[in-house]
Amino acid sequence: MKRKTRMVHGGITGDERTGAVSVPIYQVSTYKQEAAGKHSGYEYSRTGNPTRHALETVIANLENGKAGFAFGSGMAAITSVMMLMNAGDHILMTDDVYGGSYRLTTKVLNRFDLDHTFVDTSDSTKVEAAIKPNTKALFIETPTNPLLKITDLKKMSDIAKANNLMLIVDNTFATPYWQQPLDLGADIVVHSATKYIGGHSDVVSGLVVVNSDEIAEDLHFIQNSVGGILGPQDSWLLMRGIKTLGLRMEAIEKNTHQLVEFLQSHQDVSTIYYPGITSHKGHDVAKLQAEGFGGMISFDVGSAEKADQVLSKVKYFTLAESLGAVESLISIPAKMTHASIPRERRLELGITDGLIRLSIGIEDIEDLIEDLKNALA
Ligand SMILES: *Cc1c(COP(=O)(O)O)cnc(C)c1O
Repeated sequence: MKRKTRMVHGGITGDERTGAVSVPIYQVSTYKQEAAGKHSGYEYSRTGNPTRHALETVIANLENGKAGFAFGSGMAAITSVMMLMNAGDHILMTDDVYGGSYRLTTKVLNRFDLDHTFVDTSDSTKVEAAIKPNTKALFIETPTNPLLKITDLKKMSDIAKANNLMLIVDNTFATPYWQQPLDLGADIVVHSATKYIGGHSDVVSGLVVVNSDEIAEDLHFIQNSVGGILGPQDSWLLMRGIKTLGLRMEAIEKNTHQLVEFLQSHQDVSTIYYPGITSHKGHDVAKLQAEGFGGMISFDVGSAEKADQVLSKVKYFTLAESLGAVESLISIPAKMTHASIPRERRLELGITDGLIRLSIGIEDIEDLIEDLKNALA
């Protein structure tokens, strides 16, 4: 089965008993048992729910993994994956990971004695140099937010295998439609399904896919023990989103290429960050390990004032955090998603006051270009 077909027919679809072509929403917490301890496979919905199970099956299929797990948010998914570690372990993380992952590691997991080092994972020599005797995992995000930095997943997989580390990849920005980290040697893929997988700005959720029965068993134990599961309604919404994921990603990719071309031709736009541009530092690796470059662009307009002007004048771009939905979104990382990072550190990373981040949607590209042209004028 090819990818778009898998999005419609992969995993569990429909309902065998009634012929319903959409998986029913099993809004239920408990299940009748035939005799004490003798049940139909479901006993309590934290442990397992048929709607959530159908979603978990589809995402495992799309990522070419052994098992999938659905959580109440991307952060709940990442936290549960981190629970595979023990106190005293050390993890290496991409230095510009999602802010929530940064906060979880530095303000919560540190209290349980899980040690961490942030490293520029786009440079594999730096990764190798940062490995300690107690390092247990590599946590990679690629592309990153908001500068779209790219990490070579095959190289990370080689390093992980040579040092007996678990390779965890946050695949939120690329989606399984463009990038399948398990095929490149990752052990675990995590998603904020709030973004492209849901795709309609209407559900907060997280997904995990693993590549071994052993990790699957451990993670199911954690999912059931910690309990940050996704409810049946939201599971259903994600399955509905997944059916059009391929179509949306294709449309977004096309729009994004055209919008980048427009920005490149605009005199007030200096640096543009987009892995699809040949001069982007990670372009060659991105091209090798992913089939698309995605729908995120950041660009510099020189000053906070100019950035404010653009944000106040756009009509079709919604000023909001988050990304990956059908509607185009615009934000200023320095004032929004990355405001909690000290300015000095932001500038070191390249997150200037005039940096604007776009999440491109599926609107007509002529409208999006005209909107930005007017806002920049
Ligand atoms: C949004 C996001 C998360 C967190 O997901 P939530 O669903 O908001 O909890 C994690 N990683 C990346 C890359 C994200 O963009």
